[in-house]
Amino acid sequence: MTLNPSTLNNFILIATGYAAAFLIALWLSLIIWAYRDIRRRSRDPLLRILAVLVVAILFLPGILIYLILRPPQTQEEEFQQTLEEEALLQSIEESSLCPGCGRRVREDWVACPACYTRLKKPCHQCGRPIELAWNLCPYCGTPAPGMRRENLTVDDALRNLAGDIENDPMANSGVSSQSDLP
Ligand SMILES: [Zn+2]
Ligand SMILES: [Zn+2]
Repeated sequence: MTLNPSTLNNFILIATGYAAAFLIALWLSLIIWAYRDIRRRSRDPLLRILAVLVVAILFLPGILIYLILRPPQTQEEEFQQTLEEEALLQSIEESSLCPGCGRRVREDWVACPACYTRLKKPCHQCGRPIELAWNLCPYCGTPAPGMRRENLTVDDALRNLAGDIENDPMANSGVSSQSDLP
C-alpha cells in the first residue's frame, strides 16, 4: 500500500491540529493552575498578576520559574504554623517555677511535689486551685473564708442580700454591708 501525497498531507494536518489543540489546552490549564495556586499562597494582587503572566508568556519554562519562586507556604499553612507557635509559646509561659526549689510546676498544682512548698490553695466552695494571695475564687466567685463582706463582688452582695434580710433585721433599712465600715 502506497501513501498518496494528499492522504499524507491530511494526516499531518490532523496531527498538527491535535497537537496545537492539546498545547492550547495545556497552556490554559497551566495558567488556571498557576492562578489557583498563587491565590492560595499570596494576597498581594501584583504578585498574583505576575505569576499568571510568567506562566502565560513563558509557558512550560514559566511554570518552572513559578515553581521555584512561589511562596513556599500556602496562607492556610502559614496560619496553622502561627497557631502552633502561639500555642507553644503559651504553654511555655503558663508553666511557672516553684518559688521554693525553682522546678517547673504546673499551673493547677496546689503544692510542689519536690519541696512541698504550698503553691495554691483550693477554693472551699468549688475546690479549684487559686493563688495564695487571692481572696476571691475567680471560678465561682466565693470569697475565701474569713474575708470581710466588702470584698464581695456586687453580684454576690446582691445575691446574698435576700438571705441577709431574713437573718439580720437591721439590714431591713436597705443599707447594705457597707454600714459596718469604720
Ligand atoms: Zn519546689
Ligand atoms: Zn471556687
